[in-house]
Amino acid sequence: MTNIGKSDLTSHPILQANPLATFEELRGVIQTAINRVLESGSYILGQEVRTFESEFARFIGCSHCVAVNSGTDALVMALKALGIGEGDEVITVSHTAVATVAAIQLCGAVPVLVDVDRESYCMDPHLLETVLSVNTKAILPVHLYGHPADMPPILELAKKHGLYVIEDCAQAHGTKINGQIVGSFGDISCFSFYPTKNLGALGDGGAVLTNNTSLAEKLLLLRQYGWRERYISEIQGLNTRLDEIQAAILNVKLAFLDDDNQRRQKIADLYTQRLRETRYKLPVTAVNAVHTWHQYVIQTDNREALRAFLQQNHVGTGVHYPQAIHQQPAYSGLLRGANHLPATEELIPRILSLPMYPQLPLVDVERVCDLLLEWQARSEKLYR
Ligand SMILES: *Cc1c(COP(=O)(O)O)cnc(C)c1O
Repeated sequence: MTNIGKSDLTSHPILQANPLATFEELRGVIQTAINRVLESGSYILGQEVRTFESEFARFIGCSHCVAVNSGTDALVMALKALGIGEGDEVITVSHTAVATVAAIQLCGAVPVLVDVDRESYCMDPHLLETVLSVNTKAILPVHLYGHPADMPPILELAKKHGLYVIEDCAQAHGTKINGQIVGSFGDISCFSFYPTKNLGALGDGGAVLTNNTSLAEKLLLLRQYGWRERYISEIQGLNTRLDEIQAAILNVKLAFLDDDNQRRQKIADLYTQRLRETRYKLPVTAVNAVHTWHQYVIQTDNREALRAFLQQNHVGTGVHYPQAIHQQPAYSGLLRGANHLPATEELIPRILSLPMYPQLPLVDVERVCDLLLEWQARSEKLYR
């Protein structure tokens, strides 16, 4: 017999993210879908991938979707499809997952960094003009934490200077700006289906979307050794196929994406309501934005002490991310624009991602808030 006493209810661990909870919620349908693939005898680029590509293209409102092995590969594929390589510059941000910058580097191009806006945590469009050069080929905004980058001025500047726009939507499945869904703005857009993303597989996955038919055709070749005809490499490609089992899982989960995003919204609303009167800096949603709350990120002094306090009370938190890309050993000294990123550098030691996943019970959110309020009361006493 399991003992669900009061102490369990107040001290069970609260995870920052919980992909197992999604699986458990959909266990039956997911297992049926996986079995269907197992029995089909078709494990690579079959019906499940085709179905997912057309359904996800429809969800984003793009005419073409090419499913690939990861979000990182989606970015590499997008850059390669646009012919970006050696000597070309791509403008992006340093406050992002390493994959954004790694993909540019993997293609032989030079990442050029601009700072982020202090409210949205996304690319500050006002800074783009300051880093333009004759080698600039593309702008790569990231819709970080589920908040959209400010697309209208980015698109305007790209048009003015003849640059491509590649959207990194890995944290923003369903995010909108001015009523339009992200992933449908740029020349090409990239998604990740890593298990903890808003739309997550139970393994790796990614997708590249575009409205441009010739780009889509090139993406199809690039995905599989440059093959149009089997075994004949027409161009130099890679192998980055989404497999049938992951596609089948994504086909199940796509139907729940809007609901899951709404549950994230409810959790975010409760955090905001409970923490409004505190000294923590809370996330701000632009008036023209629909946020999808991949992360609920606050800012605080003394972050590590707060993290430790929460951990002692069985509450997991995250830091997305502990170092900006230009601060990381592999990239320091290699990136243009790295010497002037004051907003990025100021926020890095202050950010804290609170528990956030669709199945997170609201009573758990209340407990996290109680602890945050308790911590603040304690530190006020300490510093008075
Ligand atoms: C997760 C993520 C990626 C990379 O996706 P993977 O599927 O893990 O390769 C790229 N960009 C951002 C912003 C991400 O959060």
